[in-house]
Amino acid sequence: MIEQTLVLIKPDGLKKSLTGNILTRLSETKLEIAAAKIVRVSRELAMEHYKYLSDKPFFNELIDYIQGKYHDRRKVMAMVYWGENAIEKVRGLAGATNPEEADATSIRGAFGRITTGGVYENVIHASANSGEAEREIKLWFQPDEIVFEMYPTKIIEAMTARRVWV
Ligand code: UDP
Ligand code: MG
Repeated sequence: MIEQTLVLIKPDGLKKSLTGNILTRLSETKLEIAAAKIVRVSRELAMEHYKYLSDKPFFNELIDYIQGKYHDRRKVMAMVYWGENAIEKVRGLAGATNPEEADATSIRGAFGRITTGGVYENVIHASANSGEAEREIKLWFQPDEIVFEMYPTKIIEAMTARRVWV
C-alpha cells in the first residue's frame, strides 16, 4: 500500500550529529521525501503531538525533551516520507520505543538512551499507523509544504497578517 509517514529527528538526534546517518538509512528504503523542514517546537505543538500520552508520569519531561530543553537544540527536523509500506518500513528502521529493547542495528537501538528521569531519548519519531500519520502530518505541515496531494485540500479566502522579507 502506498502510504505517507511523519518522521522527526528529535533534538538528541540533531545534537549527536545523526542527521546524515539517519537520512542515509532512510534513503535505503527507496521511499521518497515529500516534505522537510527544521521546526522550533512550541509547547502547544509538542503537547498536541503527544496528547495521547498526557496522563503519563513522564509527559512533562517528554514535552521538554521534544522542545529541545535537554539538548541545547531548540529544534527538530520534520519530514514526510512517501511510498510503499512507508509506515512499517520507517518504524522498522527506527526500532522499538524503548532504546534498551530496540534491535541493536536499529536507529534507536544504536543511538538511543534512557535518561535518569526515565524519558526514552530515542533519536527519531515515526508515525505508528495511517491514522496517526494523517493526524501528525496535518499537525506539522501545511498542504503547500508537501509536494504531493496526500489528503484532500480546499482553498479559503483569508486576509491574515504574515511575515514577509523586507
Ligand atoms: N516515551 C517514554 N517512555 C515511555 C513511553 C514513551 O519516554 O514509557 C517517549 C519516547 O520518547 C517515545 C515517545 O514518548 O518515542 C512517544 O511514545 P510512543 O508510545 O508513541 O512511542 P513511539 O511511537 O515513539 O515508538
Ligand atoms: Mg507513537
